[in-house]
Amino acid sequence: MPATPTWPPASLPRLYVEETLSERLNLMLEGPQANYLGAVLRLRSGAQVKLFDNRTGEWLAEISDAGKKRVVLGIVRHLRPREPVPDLWLLFAPIKRGRIDWLIEKATELGAARLVPVITRRTIVDRVKDERLFAHAIEAAEQCDRTALPELAPAQKLDALLGSWPAERTLFFADEAGGEPLARAAAPGPGAILIGPEGGFTDEERSAIRALPQARPVSLGPRILRADTAAVAAMALWMAAAGDWGRHAAR
Ligand code: SAH
Repeated sequence: MPATPTWPPASLPRLYVEETLSERLNLMLEGPQANYLGAVLRLRSGAQVKLFDNRTGEWLAEISDAGKKRVVLGIVRHLRPREPVPDLWLLFAPIKRGRIDWLIEKATELGAARLVPVITRRTIVDRVKDERLFAHAIEAAEQCDRTALPELAPAQKLDALLGSWPAERTLFFADEAGGEPLARAAAPGPGAILIGPEGGFTDEERSAIRALPQARPVSLGPRILRADTAAVAAMALWMAAAGDWGRHAAR
């Protein structure tokens, strides 16, 4: 027999809410969130859940009234402040549904501060449903104990993006044609990783990116990766070399 019963789960349900949370606040959840707590988990009054709002951190809340359509909760206490997130943006060319959902989920888990869909010449998907993408980020954050969500920027054309690039932000351009290994190039400070579409960048795009003073062409090794794999590999390398992976002491 295991010493700790595996059911009920030790962790409380966790939800992201749009409302700014504070001491003694009462709030009402409706729609899918009420359905999840009231109908799926069948939580009743007195049950506790964790809430986070992407601004004030995480709070313990208690249900005071539960129905299938609406659940009323009262804040019990503050659990922890919003976590600091390294200053890394992920710029990616939209890819097929399913793959882009996976990419958003993983980028959120890895701690991207900002996600920027970039339209390039060979981008196949021309419309990005921001709401659906953001829902994937929320779900990943809820599951992985995150108190911070990445900001989702509106899709932008590559040339517009390069034209207004912030002076102090290094643009690590993942170039399948080769470059400096990212693990070596990554340095602390504001950074961004640019990943191309499945068809790669055109030669013109490649030279336009390279012409940007803040651009550092980087390699992710001798094997070509699919765009979603490249994004995750690059983020992991940056986090280890320039992010906060070294700041996690054993408890
Ligand atoms: N079809 C292209 C590959 C595109 S891969 C070709 O055959 O050349 C999609 C994107 O992932 C690329 O634009 C690049 O940003 C990134 N990528 C994939 N593998 C990479 C590698 N080994 N090094 C650097 N970037 C890579």
